[in-house]
Amino acid sequence: MSQIGSETNPLRVAIVGAGPAGFYTAERLFKEKSIHVTVDMYDRLPTPFGLVRNGVAPDHQKIKSVTKIFDRLARKPEFRFFGNVELGTDVTVEDLRDHYHQIVYTTGAQTDRHLDIPGIDLKNSHPATDFVAWYNGHPDFRDYEFDLSQESVAVIGIGNVAVDVARILCRTREELMETDIADYALEQLSQSKVKEVYMLGRRGPAQAAFTPPEAKELGEMAGADAVVLPEEAELDPLSQASLADADRGTMRNIEIIQELAARKLSGKPKKLTIRFLVSPTELIGNEDGEVVAMRLVKNELYQTETGTMRPRATDQVEEIPVGLVFRSIGYRGVPIKGVPFHERWGVILNEKGRVLDAASNEPVLGQYTAGWIKRGPSGVIGTNKPDAVETAECMLADLAEGKTLAPTHPEQEAVADLIQSRKPTFVSYDDWVKLDELELAAGVEAGRPRVKFTRVDDMLKALGKA
Ligand SMILES: Cc1cc2nc3c(=O)[nH]c(=O)nc-3n(C[C@H](O)[C@H](O)[C@H](O)COP(=O)(O)OP(=O)(O)OC[C@H]3O[C@@H](n4cnc5c(N)ncnc54)[C@H](O)[C@@H]3O)c2cc1C
Repeated sequence: MSQIGSETNPLRVAIVGAGPAGFYTAERLFKEKSIHVTVDMYDRLPTPFGLVRNGVAPDHQKIKSVTKIFDRLARKPEFRFFGNVELGTDVTVEDLRDHYHQIVYTTGAQTDRHLDIPGIDLKNSHPATDFVAWYNGHPDFRDYEFDLSQESVAVIGIGNVAVDVARILCRTREELMETDIADYALEQLSQSKVKEVYMLGRRGPAQAAFTPPEAKELGEMAGADAVVLPEEAELDPLSQASLADADRGTMRNIEIIQELAARKLSGKPKKLTIRFLVSPTELIGNEDGEVVAMRLVKNELYQTETGTMRPRATDQVEEIPVGLVFRSIGYRGVPIKGVPFHERWGVILNEKGRVLDAASNEPVLGQYTAGWIKRGPSGVIGTNKPDAVETAECMLADLAEGKTLAPTHPEQEAVADLIQSRKPTFVSYDDWVKLDELELAAGVEAGRPRVKFTRVDDMLKALGKA
């Protein structure tokens, strides 16, 4: 057999997870002109692009145009997509080891971090992850229910995901019509009784985790006034002192926050209040187990030995009436059976993208990882590019040293037969292109950018595979 990576014996790579990290890994491998490589990309959903489709806010259509780059890669003859195929259910790590020289896990962070306060499991208290997936039409979440008959909602957290959730709750029907939000979410949000939204940050304006364009957008919503309490917009002495080393983003955030604090209400039907230096300590329920209020404690900042600013509770407490709560305190990776996992960090155990054996801490032959499941849920879409390049370069270095798996069935047809037998309703990239065209056509009819399929059965029916 000729050398792996040659024309007659191409490097066969399986990438599990069709989000940005998966595509950026494929992009770097395809750029390597000295080797021949074929990539099979798997996703548990019939649709590619991960959180670009199911996470990024529907009113941020421009950001979603990154999929054009991924689409160009996917149309290469050396690339195949096996959508609707889940690793761990439809295929196993063993199956992949039998068919590929290298395997890359890019499965993202699919669940939320828990917030341990009394009452957090009351009715109408939800992880923001569920709501985000619901309004984006993720098939696993489309039947979830959120009580939008409530007038007052709290979003715990002050990062960009919390900002997305707060903004979507405040958008008017006309604004939502310009998005690809799931059609049922468009209807339910248009009928929503929500009037008052609170976004709650543990620390102060100088430590806000949102980015300036997202913060600025909050002050520009058609149907909602965004406000900050003047006393909470003021910087405490420690934050004030830290400004000497602050980056432009922090300075801009402070400016925007202080500008919002100086504004008068303009009488828009909804109000978004951005709170600083407060932590929820308890959700209070009624006799039906529904949340009716949230107890908050006021925080003060202190500086740790490493220089970071941390919040600690004071003795000032307050209660705000809320009937619906979303906690947005971070995403978390889920383990894949047979792949070493770091429980505390919620990531696949790895060094620079090489999967490490939990006992020996040595690289596991032929197995790699990239994206959120490699480094945790941080950064924007573009952050996954250098991260994936680092992984792909480890793969190329290992290939050069002959460190690859030795699959018993490396032929492309052998994989096609395996998937056909395990998951006859798998979705190819051509199939996705058809679904994409149907969604765009439905969008034209509805006067929207796209109307999404939100049930796997409907997608399969449209493809004649049901
Ligand atoms: C709510 C939200 C809003 C965001 N907004 C922005 C934004 O506006 N701008 C920006 O730049 N970034 C944004 N981001 C960040 C960006 O989405 C992430 O950086 C990026 O998607 C992470 O890429 P990934 O490939 O690691 O994971 P993902 O995008 O999550 O992709 C992982 C893929 O793996 C698949 N998968 C999981 N398990 C399996 C399995 N067992 N078998 C097969 N497939 C599997 C999943 O279905 C998914 O398609 C946002 C993130 C969130 C959560």
